Amino acid sequence: MTEQELLDFDRAHIWHPYTSATRALRCYPAARAEGVYIELMNGQRLIDGMSSWWCAIHGYNHPVINAAMSAQIGRMSHVMFGGLTHLPAVELAQLLLEIAPEGLEHVFFSDSGSVAVEVAMKMALQYWHSRSRSEKHAFVTIRRGYHGDTWHAMSVSDPDTGMHSIFSSNLPKQYFMPEPRPGFHEDYDDAEASRVEYFLRQNHGKIAAFILEPIVQGAGGMRFYHPQYLKRLRSLCTEYDILFIADEIATGFGRTGKLFACEHAGVSPDIMCVGKALTGGYITLAATMCTRNVAHAISDGTPGVFMHGPTFMANPLACATALASTRLLLQENWMEKVLRIERTLKERLLPLQGHASVAEVRVLGAIGVVEMKEPVNLELIQGRFVDEGVWLRPFGKLVYTMPPYIVSEDELDKLCKGITNVILREQL
Ligand SMILES: *Cc1c(COP(=O)(O)O)cnc(C)c1O
Repeated sequence: MTEQELLDFDRAHIWHPYTSATRALRCYPAARAEGVYIELMNGQRLIDGMSSWWCAIHGYNHPVINAAMSAQIGRMSHVMFGGLTHLPAVELAQLLLEIAPEGLEHVFFSDSGSVAVEVAMKMALQYWHSRSRSEKHAFVTIRRGYHGDTWHAMSVSDPDTGMHSIFSSNLPKQYFMPEPRPGFHEDYDDAEASRVEYFLRQNHGKIAAFILEPIVQGAGGMRFYHPQYLKRLRSLCTEYDILFIADEIATGFGRTGKLFACEHAGVSPDIMCVGKALTGGYITLAATMCTRNVAHAISDGTPGVFMHGPTFMANPLACATALASTRLLLQENWMEKVLRIERTLKERLLPLQGHASVAEVRVLGAIGVVEMKEPVNLELIQGRFVDEGVWLRPFGKLVYTMPPYIVSEDELDKLCKGITNVILREQL
């Protein structure tokens, strides 16, 4: 198939994320990927600044992960998890519980981040059902969050960016608190946490859980908020007998400079979701972890079982991949790498602050964000980045990067130059 034939069929028949079938934006055909490079069909090599949406922390085509997958394929790619168990699931669960915040003792494996969030919310509802408190059935969250595209995950994602208006008659109604304003590096101000406290004091009787992304709000706006806010929320949830769900799907596995973002505030959630970088970006897998209290309450109540069981639950190939990726992360001095990336991103991107079209530049861990004053023209700016030899995928007003941790100083320099050149040259 020629490149043009491939693109023509794709444009005519295949959906891409958040796109139109009739007014499709330009797509670039990827042929292979290696290290931090994505190679297009025409041979052009692009430095990946997105880690394929937070996932590919070790880069692509990593020999250690490739070997672990090949070995697992030779043993078994999949068996059902009803009535059977296997070494990859057990070893992965052991490792996850060892590195996760304290108190998490049970793991539920599922196929994707959105499903892990559905599972977390279902756990919270079953927990209160088992404790004969079914009136505690609503969820609270903060604005500008993102938790996935399935129904309940969408119901707690930002109502504006998630376009709740389209789905309003089918979407469960949840409670939204204002997003915390003090940034990660700013002075703390308790205004938003006080609003939460006021709300919970009035309404805790009907609230099952508070769900949020710890420290970094990803797809809802790439915002970094103050650890003290997270700390306050954790203690308010304890005080008002509300489960605390941390969605670490984007933040987990070192991205923010801590293995899990909850560690910035020294808090442990009752339920925690991980996904994305869990398999190093090789294959889809997610996990929902919970405390003994949550697991036992569900299991000691009626019906006495947790009502969820995906076909591909704990897929052995995915578990073996996640195990290899996570072991590699822990062996390879990830923190030093992430902090080096943070330093360089600050050095190279902060100077854009003050440019006429730039509203704010912020950096945390291996995440750099340039927030523009106006939404960017995605198709145009993406083409300019490709011309610069870098792969970036802005959304709305946000031009941002979260490169693989293996990115070299030279590659990172090229990535930042690409961002700077495009913003300055295009007079965006
Ligand atoms: C990406 C993401 C999800 C959804 O994960 P999928 O694997 O895309 O379903 C949920 N929560 C957060 C914080 C995410 O970043």
